Formats: sequence, C-alpha cells, structure tokens
Amino acid sequence: MSMDGRTCVITGSARGIGRGIAEYLGSEGANVVVNYRSSEGPAHEAVETIEAAGGQAVAAQADVADRDEVIHMREVCHDAFGPADVLVNNAGITADTQFTTMTREEWDRVMDVNLGGMFNCTQEFYDDIWNANEGRLINISSVVGKQGNFGQANYAAAKSGMFGFTRTIALELAKGGSTANCVAPGFTATDMLESVPDKVLDRIVAGIPLERLAEVEDIAAVVRFLASEDSSYVTGEVIDVNGGMDL
Ligand code: NAP
Repeated sequence: MSMDGRTCVITGSARGIGRGIAEYLGSEGANVVVNYRSSEGPAHEAVETIEAAGGQAVAAQADVADRDEVIHMREVCHDAFGPADVLVNNAGITADTQFTTMTREEWDRVMDVNLGGMFNCTQEFYDDIWNANEGRLINISSVVGKQGNFGQANYAAAKSGMFGFTRTIALELAKGGSTANCVAPGFTATDMLESVPDKVLDRIVAGIPLERLAEVEDIAAVVRFLASEDSSYVTGEVIDVNGGMDL
C-alpha cells in the first residue's frame, strides 16, 4: 500500500472532502489523525471505518483557528503515532454575501479559519514535515480562488491566499526534501453546497465540461498522489480538480 505507516493529519476530516481524504489515505495504509471541531460523532465513525479497513486512526478535537487547540492536536498525533509525515490543511468555511453587505466579522471569520487555520497547523507541524523522509504539505484551496465567485469576496481572497502561501512554503521546505502543493477542487458534493439553491447548482453544472459535480473521491485521489512518494518532484503547484471548469 502506497501510504504504509505514513502519519497523515487531515484537518476537518469528520465529514465532506476531508473525510474522503482520511478514508482514502487510511485504506492505503496511512496512520490518520481525524481532526474535527464540532462533529465528534462523525469523527469517531471515520476512525472506525479506517480501522475496519485495516488502517489506524485517532480522532483529535481542535478548532484550527485556535493555536492552543492545534498544539493539543499535535500532542494527540505524537502520542498515537509520533511525528506527522503529511499535513492536509482542509478545514474551511464560507460566509457568503455580496461585498457591499459583507460585515467585518464575516470577513474575519473566513480569514481566521481558512488562512489562520492553515498558518497555525503548518507552523505547529512544520518541524515534523521538515524532518520527515519526504514530508508533504497539501493545502485544499478552491477554483473560487482562481476565478472569484459572486458573493464570496472573503472566501475567494482566502483561497487565493493559499496559492502564494503554498509556493513560498514550497521554497522554504525544498532544502529539506519535503514538498508543498495546493489542490483546487471545483464544486464538490458536500454539505458546503447545501445552502446553494438547486437553480444555481443546475447553472453551475451546466458550466462544467464533465457535466457533474465532483465527488469527494475525485479530490481524495489527487491528494493521495500528492501525499505519496509518486509526487516526489512536484512542489509549489496548484492542481485543479474541477471537471474542466476553466477550459
Ligand atoms: P464541509 O462539508 O462544509 O466540511 C467542512 C469541514 O471543515 C468540516 O469537517 C468541519 O469540521 C471543518 N471545519 C470548519 N471549521 C473548522 C475549524 N475552525 N476547525 C477545524 N475544522 C473545521 O466542507 P467541504 O466541502 O468538505 O470542504 C472542505 C474544504 O474543501 C474546504 O477548505 C473548502 O473550502 C474546500 N472546497 C470545497 C468545495 C465544495 O464545493 N464543497 C470546493 C472547493 C474547495 P466540523 O464539522 O467538526 O466543524
């Protein structure tokens, strides 16, 4: 199995894309830290699913925007499996509204989780990744970071910010032989799309050359590639997984 014995921390992995990544890496033999903020039950279900498939996993509660809670998550990881080889910064939120009505609180909340969470987790796990044999940092951005999206000025700014961060960390990690990359999913069938009206979703799908939303497995398969030794010479990249949206 391609991830045998590699320790992977995936933020926000009790549900959605993170859950798909956790279960995929677990099924490939990884030791998985399933991070959650509020979804405790689903986090434990994810652990059970990974263990039932022959993998090892532990649940770790932490709000990624809270530095002390991220330090606690690192302790849970070290106690269960030792230092991390792979960090996937997946936890993310939206707070959509047109820019003229966007409050400073809505701006700050999206920055605190999407960018601040990435900052906290990357800094706390940096030494682990640097010291790992080919450590991996993988940041889950979005097609919205490239194209923008009506009503998502805060989210688009945060997701674009991940590109510059990733390229810079890729340069800083390179001397130690570790890599940093971004995955930019297109619209993916998870709870995050629940608030999008069907009419709008139909319009979105009509604009996707492959004529469907992504499934979490579509994103997880690309993350698995980036997390594995198959991607040794790929760093500082943004990999689009969007059904051809920008063609
Ligand atoms: P989702 O179904 O809404 O799930 C969000 C996940 O993030 C949950 O597991 C949640 O944990 C976690 N989370 C939120 N705030 C957190 C915090 N402060 N600390 C720790 N965990 C936190 O979203 P998703 O669709 O799976 O999205 C996952 C990532 O993919 C996000 O970064 C998102 O921006 C990106 N993305 C999504 C799409 C899409 O169309 N779905 C497209 C492109 C990119 P709890 O449930 O425990 O709170």
